[in-house]
Amino acid sequence: MIDDKEKQQDSVEEVVTSGVEDNNDTDDYEKICFLCRRPESKAGKMISLPSNIHICADCMQKSFDSMNNVNLNYNDIMQNMQNMPNISMIDLSSLQNQAPQQKVKKKPKKKEKEIPKTLDIRSIPAPHKIKASLDDYVIGQEYAKKVMSVGVYNHYKRVATDTMDEIEIEKSNMLMIGPTGCGKTYLVKTLARLLDVPLAIADATSLTEAGYIGDDIESVISKLLAAADNDVERAEQGIVFIDEIDKLAKKKNTNQRDVSGEAVQQGLLKLLEGSDVEVPVGANSKNAMVPLVTVNTRNILFICGGAFPDLENIIKERLNKQASIGFKADLKDKYDNDPTVLEKVTVDDLKAFGMIPEFLGRLPIIFTLSGLTRDMLVKILKEPKNAILKQYQKLLALDEVKLEFEDEALEAIADKAMEKKTGARALRAILEQYMLDIMYEIPKDDSIGEVIITRGYIENTGGPRILLRGQELPRLEAAGN
Ligand code: ADP
Repeated sequence: MIDDKEKQQDSVEEVVTSGVEDNNDTDDYEKICFLCRRPESKAGKMISLPSNIHICADCMQKSFDSMNNVNLNYNDIMQNMQNMPNISMIDLSSLQNQAPQQKVKKKPKKKEKEIPKTLDIRSIPAPHKIKASLDDYVIGQEYAKKVMSVGVYNHYKRVATDTMDEIEIEKSNMLMIGPTGCGKTYLVKTLARLLDVPLAIADATSLTEAGYIGDDIESVISKLLAAADNDVERAEQGIVFIDEIDKLAKKKNTNQRDVSGEAVQQGLLKLLEGSDVEVPVGANSKNAMVPLVTVNTRNILFICGGAFPDLENIIKERLNKQASIGFKADLKDKYDNDPTVLEKVTVDDLKAFGMIPEFLGRLPIIFTLSGLTRDMLVKILKEPKNAILKQYQKLLALDEVKLEFEDEALEAIADKAMEKKTGARALRAILEQYMLDIMYEIPKDDSIGEVIITRGYIENTGGPRILLRGQELPRLEAAGN
């Protein structure tokens, strides 16, 4: 907000009236046409006359034209000029005593954001600092945050050193496994923002083998180039997030050509490993009219994410089989109700799911995210730096109304979100539904000073508590109900 205000102030042309010209900051002010009063920024370059008079090219031209076209005597010319719009006659005597002049301050030139071209090894934040920054935005998922911080740190260290000697550091591409709405995309987005690197998010389901309907695999690099403002060097150090990667699993028992599954996994191999890709600049598809640039993907960090439904069953099956063999045989259903079973995933389980071994081999960092619990959902509502509650509180604070939520109300919202089984994504939709009436009713009544959202309001058995300005006694009222 503050930034916006400052920008607005900057952009408003500052008009200053002063009698005598201040020589020191002449450069800060625009010249104004003495005849049509337009500033230099609008009228173009001025012709300067003595006594600090400036005339724009248009007015000068008009004056000449009128003199050339008509062969008139001096009085007729003067008459002619007086009739012209926007032209007033110069009273030469007034020029001598320097009448007050209007000055229009020049618009300050926008400073171009400096983008560091190359990452400096010393400027890469240490893993614990990366994690601490992630903590400000992402609730829970401690293990995932730790793994990602270290992975990203190592990756950019590798990029910065760029050594090609015998100990070549391997690329830290990642595969994140977790249920929908648990923060996979959000983690990657936050990470890219913190590191100030370009990010492209692609959906694996829209990718097909080259030549088939759908996006070519290389389109993900086009997206990254666009995110880096067509700066190839910056794009080459960016992050590509490929969501729904589980949808690329090999289809079982199929005779048809699998152009959107296994073939895409094959196609991605080259990108993940590092290769030169020709991509169109400023367009989505290659054609004769669009220039192509070559982007090397060697230093691009690829993060794949997916929910991998049924993977749990594959893991359980394996664990149960292992557990029921030999002397230490366990109960057959030991892992059936284990909520942490996904954490025990191995590359073999993923192969059994349908991912091809070469593909998995290029994603050395595999980790899982846990499903969100009710407590985590409550925290997501109120704790992150840009928490949804904080956003509503800020909106109402602009109307000088305080917004509070009872803890029980937050729990009720979390319960409703749990039912929807879409993770934290449901929170916003639920809250928006209840806040609509509040946001509609409150500005109607100036006397309202505070609104407290109660459990009853969320469970549709009561209304929010409304406190009037300067009044101690609460007034029970259901806004909009
Ligand atoms: P997915 O795992 O399906 O990619 P997202 O990352 O898109 O889910 O999550 C959807 C939204 O839910 C995010 O935009 C974010 O606001 C919120 N969210 C999800 N998980 C968390 C979390 N652990 N902490 C904070 N916010 C979260």
